Amino acid sequence: MRRVIVLGSTGSIGTQALDVIGRSDELEVVALAAATSFEQVVEQARAHGVTRVALADEAAAALAAEAWTEGEVLAGAEGVMSLVTETECDLVLNALVGSAGLGPTVAALGEGIDLALANKESLVVGGELVTALAEATGARIVPVDSEHSALAQLIGSERPGAVERLVLTASGGPFRGRSPEELESVTVEQALAHPTWEMGGKITIDSATLMNKGLEVIEAHHLFGVPYERIDVVVHPQSIVHALVHLNDGASLAHLGYPDMRVPISYALHHPERADVPVPALDLPALGQLTFEAPDERAFPCLRLAREAGRAGGTAPCVLNAANEVAVRAFLDGRLSFTGIPEVIERCLESLPVEPVGHFSDLSRADAAARELAGEAVEAVRA
Ligand code: MG
Repeated sequence: MRRVIVLGSTGSIGTQALDVIGRSDELEVVALAAATSFEQVVEQARAHGVTRVALADEAAAALAAEAWTEGEVLAGAEGVMSLVTETECDLVLNALVGSAGLGPTVAALGEGIDLALANKESLVVGGELVTALAEATGARIVPVDSEHSALAQLIGSERPGAVERLVLTASGGPFRGRSPEELESVTVEQALAHPTWEMGGKITIDSATLMNKGLEVIEAHHLFGVPYERIDVVVHPQSIVHALVHLNDGASLAHLGYPDMRVPISYALHHPERADVPVPALDLPALGQLTFEAPDERAFPCLRLAREAGRAGGTAPCVLNAANEVAVRAFLDGRLSFTGIPEVIERCLESLPVEPVGHFSDLSRADAAARELAGEAVEAVRA
């Protein structure tokens, strides 16, 4: 029996992970954590016979402790970390949203616990330190992100040196084909209507701006140790091909499937085994055709900004991510236009110097500075 802690259990990935675990005889959930949704966490704990939960929000933790006396409730960001380090487990699934996921990633890897990673920000923000930590303790990072799960499966059987290029596919989001001018007036509601994937609010907006793909390029760079100039992005609106690798002998391998996150979740939780997932096999004649096009970086500058920040290295990806989180929040709250998102990020990247990262505290400092500056930039861009 593999004992799993699910962080971010009430979100899209978390609830699908509990579905996968519930169907498996090999997996058992031993602890749950969420940001604020205490009623749902308590409900999940009861359904899965879990006796330990954590809520990152202190007030939500207090309410959970009141509502649920059958187990232990840990509180705050520290509580989530303690849940990871003090619960006997074999695997941590990190599906928290944003850079809040970095601390628990470090906690798990530091303990030598294998990590199923859905929180891409952990690698975007802390890439070098996080991968070095995993190497030092021997913990494995198995990606849950669909493209990276596909890449891990494609690269898995190849000899070192055989893989020449990685290709990440992007759906293009709801605004594919629009001009920069047309994007100025798009609404939150339109941005939240993703054509192929059902996801949480933050990642859905990131998909609409193509920042999600930018973050994924940085994630792929760290996961697979491939330089940025050998990672491509191609827009593929059907989201059937999840990723592709070009090999040195001219062969290219692709990973295909209907867009259903239970597939990469199941792969990460069962790795290196595979388990049954109730999804239909691909019906190619019914699909008819798959189409591909180059991304429009003029309309979607976030992809370029992410690449630039990745190449700059040091604190730049951390600044990119923090500024993006602030800008997306402002957009969702109606305080910033859609095209204001890359403007805010670019201002932050231009104003804040790139510092080397020697320790995790360097990242929290850069994160705080970027958030403050991004807050000001939101006001400036609005005015
Ligand atoms: Mg993805």
